[in-house]
Amino acid sequence: MDAWTIKDAIDLYNVNGWGRKLFSINEKGHVIIEPNGKGEGQIDIKQIVDDLVRRGLSLPLLLRFPDLLRDSLSRIYNSFSEKIEEYSYQGSYLPVMPIKVNQQRHVVEELLDFSGEYPLGLEAGSKPELLIAITLMSKRGGLVVCNGYKDQAYIETALLAQHLGITTLIIIDRFAELAMIIEAAKKLNLKPLIGVRAKLASKGSGKWAESGGDRSKFGLTATEIVACVEHLTEAGMLDQLVCLHFHIGSQITAIRAIKDALKEGSRIYANLYNMGAPLRYFDVGGGLAVDYDGSRTNFHASKNYSTSEYAADVVDAIAATLDESHIPHPTIISESGRALVAHHAVLVFDVLGRYEPSMPSPVDLTQPSTVDEPKVIEDLREVYKLVSRKNYQEAYHDALQLKEDALSMFRLGIIDLRQRAQIEELFWATAHRIWRVIKNLAYIPEDFEGLQKQLAETYFCNFSVFQSVPDSWAVNHLFPTMPIHRLNEKPTRMGTLADLTCDSDGKIDQFIDLHDVKDTLELHDFKEDEPYFLGIFLVGAYQEVLGDLHNLFGDVNAIHIQLDDETEYKIRHVVKGDTIKEVLGYVEYDPSLMLSDLRQAIELSLAKRKMTFEQSAVLVRHFEASLSDYTYLEQTHLAETLLASVIPNPAEE
Ligand code: PLP
Repeated sequence: MDAWTIKDAIDLYNVNGWGRKLFSINEKGHVIIEPNGKGEGQIDIKQIVDDLVRRGLSLPLLLRFPDLLRDSLSRIYNSFSEKIEEYSYQGSYLPVMPIKVNQQRHVVEELLDFSGEYPLGLEAGSKPELLIAITLMSKRGGLVVCNGYKDQAYIETALLAQHLGITTLIIIDRFAELAMIIEAAKKLNLKPLIGVRAKLASKGSGKWAESGGDRSKFGLTATEIVACVEHLTEAGMLDQLVCLHFHIGSQITAIRAIKDALKEGSRIYANLYNMGAPLRYFDVGGGLAVDYDGSRTNFHASKNYSTSEYAADVVDAIAATLDESHIPHPTIISESGRALVAHHAVLVFDVLGRYEPSMPSPVDLTQPSTVDEPKVIEDLREVYKLVSRKNYQEAYHDALQLKEDALSMFRLGIIDLRQRAQIEELFWATAHRIWRVIKNLAYIPEDFEGLQKQLAETYFCNFSVFQSVPDSWAVNHLFPTMPIHRLNEKPTRMGTLADLTCDSDGKIDQFIDLHDVKDTLELHDFKEDEPYFLGIFLVGAYQEVLGDLHNLFGDVNAIHIQLDDETEYKIRHVVKGDTIKEVLGYVEYDPSLMLSDLRQAIELSLAKRKMTFEQSAVLVRHFEASLSDYTYLEQTHLAETLLASVIPNPAEE
């Protein structure tokens, strides 16, 4: 048998498929990030986790890499710039970050910091997001696309922000907003820059297709767009209608859907222009997908096109349609959110333990345990003994039948709990034998598809699916998931992941696969005394803010890490996760009142001599200390395994 290599690990987890050559595995078997390309400096994720634990930070950790934000922004910007040149397009391109994709201040600010090199606007989809956009843009100037539901205050705020050197494009998402914009402009005596969002008949593809099409929530129908032109003409404001916008959904997996939308959108643009609106911006919305499984297909976790193809289709479709009517080429805006931020964040957590549904039996299962063994056990033992390549199918069906029969006998009181346990043990041992036969077959018969999942081990992990990867629970979204170390060692176990919540949905049992979806993940043997860290990758888009406090597991510690020439990496920001005190506050509990209630209850118990003073002291100490703790399990032994017993000084390191 060939020895396990790093390349085998890269292939097994399809790192080159989803990792865009930014992620790889080093000779130590650790996942690394190479933001500037191979050989141009690397960040070792396992090393970082160890160093953070030594600094006293607990897992789970959300690691953010600003270098990867820059990489994504440059990919999108450069793709458009290249296509603009190639097609001799007369207008320019402006990427806009939809703040909803990740509102974290450090993330938005880090992206804006690159705007010297790559200009970037912001998109706000609500009043709070508008306030963020105005604050951040007031320092540097730039474009803010104002989307979402608007009231009078939203519109007036956006209009007045023009005086701060910000170009606010107010998009009419619902027809009712038109009257409010006209009123606000008159009241403030200001000229708004107005856009309309068209409701396209063309729909996206993938899980978020319903954001487009006739029944979509936002956007104006053809009738409403025509009425808009008439109302603006009447108000003497048609010269302020400068932008056409559409958005047909997130994670558009098929290039065909994008092409259709662009054809329809460009026609609307040309018609509106010819009706007298001096349009100069064409905002093609978001939807540029991320290849989470690396399969390059139109599967929902993938996409069948590259960023460069996307840019080519946008530039080409707009130019081709507008050239027919000699309409000037507009500035193209895209609101690509997911593609901009998904790659930059990795969630790392530790495995706490493991459950095997079928523990290896300490006794020889081929021998009866008693002389008067019930027939059902005797029969199952025979099946177990005789499993072979020739009869594995028959053996499986027999074993299932005998397990069923035994259960009926238990319900009727014919066999007892010990005998039921023996049946369980024999059944799982038989299933393992059968699996060992079929896993090497070229084709696994349909009957056995669920067997591997049944035999899989459960790895209990220190995180919450609901807090950190809510889309995995809500829409069965797939994220690349794998160990971040020990990858120079063959993973010999098949497992699913269970989180800390007391919710049976708090699990991950679907994993990316190049050709399919895997029910189990290849993992290493878990050793109680050795930390085992897993990573969920590409979690930078939408997950944090959609995450919730199920079971009161709060925000995780987030660390911003940058590649550094001299010190390998530099920590830019540490954003501490929630403490128990903080999450209790979110649900209206006052920790000091809780403590005082506890003390009163203790006094009653002490008075009735149900408790000793010493016991009460321990309880109060734990209660008080817990309030300041992280909401996740603090694995003090992890820090201990990484910390030397005597703390070294820098000269010794
Ligand atoms: N623009 C609008 C109006 C949106 O609603 C969204 C999100 O669905 C986006 C942009 C961002 O989309 P994506 O993250 O798929 O690029």
